[in-house]
Amino acid sequence: MSKIKKIRLFCTDLDGTLLGKPAATADFTETWRAGGAERPVLVYSTGRLHGDAQRMIRISGLPEPDFYITGVGTMIFDVSSGGMIEGFTNTLNEGWDMEKVRGLVAGWEGITEQPEEQQHGWKSSWFWNGRTKEDIATLESEINSAGVAAQAVYSSARDLDILPKRANKGNAVTWLCRHLGIGLDEIVVAGDTGNDASMFLLDGVRGVAPGNAESELLEILGDSRAYAASGHCAAGILEGLVHYGVFQTIIPAKQQPPTGL
Ligand SMILES: [Mg+2]
Repeated sequence: MSKIKKIRLFCTDLDGTLLGKPAATADFTETWRAGGAERPVLVYSTGRLHGDAQRMIRISGLPEPDFYITGVGTMIFDVSSGGMIEGFTNTLNEGWDMEKVRGLVAGWEGITEQPEEQQHGWKSSWFWNGRTKEDIATLESEINSAGVAAQAVYSSARDLDILPKRANKGNAVTWLCRHLGIGLDEIVVAGDTGNDASMFLLDGVRGVAPGNAESELLEILGDSRAYAASGHCAAGILEGLVHYGVFQTIIPAKQQPPTGL
């Protein structure tokens, strides 16, 4: 009989997962801080880029993580050293050509490039409203046919990210766990949209989907891949962390947060 291992790392999305319901975000912060030295390694994995993610953490009052995985799994930042882990990003370069991607995608109808702050050398981000899975697959195969090893990730029926083939939140957290000597069966992951699916699908991970998780994610996960919480955003994540024994109980925040995040 396999033994259920203790959770050593918690990797969570931000928007719509830890953020989106300010009172619950504050409860998460309170509960996490009470965990002291016993708590798991904390990783925020977001589509946002590093500076933007840090700004959200400051505004929301969320605890500082140990690592940020930013740009939908394209960069890992070690908070203790303050820097990007280049060994990870170097794994993404093979077959990747950012300028070629931009040239190819720009010609598609109804597609517009996201603002500069959403772009970086391994992430080309676009707005493309209301597209089907088939549209996304067609675009991806056109890019691949042009000789670029890329993938298209579609979220919220609007946000399209073109990333190096191997870049996704799941591969990034896998790389980080190997780097830290932590098994995938010792982690909990959480997220609410399609770009989080790759984390839930890793062998052995335990997942939490908040009550507001989008159908595009739930369809991919089916019934068995995640704890489906009833609470929305951070309230659901807290539920899941209690379910997996990371927290014994939820500690309500003494003060409500100042902003409507
Ligand atoms: Mg999200």
